[in-house]
Amino acid sequence: MQTLDLHPTGRHYLQIPGPSPVPDRILRAMSLPTIDHRGPEFGALGLKVLADMQKIFQTRQPVIIYPSSGTGAWEAALANTLSPGDQLLMYETGHFAALWQKLAMRLGLETEVLRHPGPEVWRHGVRADLIEERLRADSQHAIKAVCVVHNETSTGVTSDIAAVRRAIDAARHPALLLVDTISGLASADYRHDEWGADVTISGSQKGLMLPPGISFNAVSSKALEASRTARLPKAFWAWDEIIESNRAGYWPSTPNTNLLYGLSEACDMLLAQGLPAVFARHRRWAKGVRAAVNAWGLPIQCADPAVYSPVLTGVMTPEGIDADAVRKTIYERFDCSLGTGLGKVKGRMFRIGHLGDCNDLTLMAALSGCEMGLKLAGVKLAGSGVLAAMDHFSAHPAGVLEPGAV
Ligand code: PLP
Repeated sequence: MQTLDLHPTGRHYLQIPGPSPVPDRILRAMSLPTIDHRGPEFGALGLKVLADMQKIFQTRQPVIIYPSSGTGAWEAALANTLSPGDQLLMYETGHFAALWQKLAMRLGLETEVLRHPGPEVWRHGVRADLIEERLRADSQHAIKAVCVVHNETSTGVTSDIAAVRRAIDAARHPALLLVDTISGLASADYRHDEWGADVTISGSQKGLMLPPGISFNAVSSKALEASRTARLPKAFWAWDEIIESNRAGYWPSTPNTNLLYGLSEACDMLLAQGLPAVFARHRRWAKGVRAAVNAWGLPIQCADPAVYSPVLTGVMTPEGIDADAVRKTIYERFDCSLGTGLGKVKGRMFRIGHLGDCNDLTLMAALSGCEMGLKLAGVKLAGSGVLAAMDHFSAHPAGVLEPGAV
């Protein structure tokens, strides 16, 4: 019987769409001794990461940092701005949007869910026109917040957040706009202020290239105003005490010091490269991966090229081929982890992450693992995705911004 070797040679290929591979530079930064979280050295670190994160969120408004996974920041966004029984308009682009709705219901909020019409329900981004139509019909302004996921990690579909803001404004509706960019931030362009988000939720383990364990709420002045009268119970998540403590670079409770060393290092890396270059890097990798999937002749989960995710690509397997069996083969034979299909697409697709500490050759290795695994699973491929991706990466040098790119 074949046994699983859990300590193979070389590095494991962590190609799931987060947690993403952590650069050695960040791992080294986190290995420094833990310091007094009430001491002067920590205060300087706190002020630095808070200011850096404003640049990452592209905001001048407060960013709250929590020692939690992204789910905590989802809860914080709702608990700080809403009251029991408040009505939410949520848009289900995939599994994570559906989980956020479940969480909202558990908090005692009323949820109404919009979905893409027709059979391709998890293959498209948010339709802002459907949101506008619903808000126009809500003449009593019963809906208190609109919740959307910017980069749906379960499907590889992005949504146009600025268009959602325009829809809310066009309907002259006072609802808050709450946005999850847990897997989009620092890989896909995201502008908290310019796009008019009221609360933006994110996490450390994706584009920020850190381990799991930090989450964020970027807030607007309207959201802060709402938090003064919101009545959902909140204590640990309450923004007011944290913002007060943050003025001097501290937190009311013990912050995750070593992860914050990592966050500081990650921000240095991202800001030194410049966000436009970071976003271009992920778009370029995504195009290379899609070139491979197209050459294999397999459908991409996102059916709308205008909203392809720069963070991950969902690959649909042919009828009768269990995508999880393909992933298992690739893991066991080639030491590469790929994202499983989640929720209603389980077994029907797998996900290739192109975020974190990657480069052209790590992606080429992952694509080789995919191609070998697909063939071993009996999938008839139209051609070689590996060759197509090599051609793409060779023809498009890194570091060259496309015309008009931001
Ligand atoms: N939202 C999105 C888009 C995610 O990708 C995830 C996790 O992958 C979450 C929410 C939940 O975050 P966490 O698992 O860190 O609690």
